[in-house]
Amino acid sequence: MAGGARRAGAAASEVVVGAIEIEPALDAVGVLCEYAEAYPGVTADEWEPYQALYPDLFAGSCWRLPCLSYVIRSEGTTILVDTGVGPPGLWKDWEPEREGMLGASLAQLGVEPDDVDVVFLTHLHVDHLGWNTDLDGVPLFPQARYVVHADALADVMSRMDEPHIRRCVEPLLGTFDEVTGDPEIAAGILAFSAPGHAPGHMGLRISSEGAEATILADGVPHPAQLDHPDWVFAFDDDRVESTTTRAALVGELIRGDGLVVCGHFPGGGIGRIATREGRTVWQDAT
Ligand SMILES: [Zn+2]
Repeated sequence: MAGGARRAGAAASEVVVGAIEIEPALDAVGVLCEYAEAYPGVTADEWEPYQALYPDLFAGSCWRLPCLSYVIRSEGTTILVDTGVGPPGLWKDWEPEREGMLGASLAQLGVEPDDVDVVFLTHLHVDHLGWNTDLDGVPLFPQARYVVHADALADVMSRMDEPHIRRCVEPLLGTFDEVTGDPEIAAGILAFSAPGHAPGHMGLRISSEGAEATILADGVPHPAQLDHPDWVFAFDDDRVESTTTRAALVGELIRGDGLVVCGHFPGGGIGRIATREGRTVWQDAT
């Protein structure tokens, strides 16, 4: 099967990469902040064409942010990529429209918590780990090994008093599968370091039967940055390193023809790079 083809009888949002299946699972949507705050060097005029291309990501001059996780199935292994914002009302730094949907989204895909073999955490920001545990800090995916980069874990060890770290990281200490380098997560699925956004930030490269997909995590948090990888994102931990990482990643994506996946992109966040009117754009494939 060609990458991006849809399996007969599959859920509407499912995409296949050779023999590997990827499905988006939405946890939350909300208004994060003014674009001028997230990208201080970018003017409202510069945003205009991207507002036309990606209207779902705009609430006036503010960033309307979807937070999607992904279910990946490879040779009988079920991987959940990131666990969203978590139970409603906990993240105080945004204005949610809808929250707390990951469980229902997974159920719609036929995935129960016990079915998840691997929870892959791209990084430990508040919008990527919220359902690691329930409200009481009990791990929600009891059969899963939780994979996280050693640098991400080392970074939060001094910040255990932050509520999302205390609830979603502390109860799992001692059980994390701490990784470095480019470890294989399952057949055809390799993690890769994408430094700069957060300590230990990782993406995933998926390849099967000649088809490919790249999960960007927050290396390219907005599709406008596929056209402007040099646009500096104020919430990056190391803005210079992140911009270098992004430029390299975007160059590679433009040269390739694989699927490009990001949980903060519109729709299901699974799509392809295209050129339209001289711009590098992202097209939803779900
Ligand atoms: Zn994020």
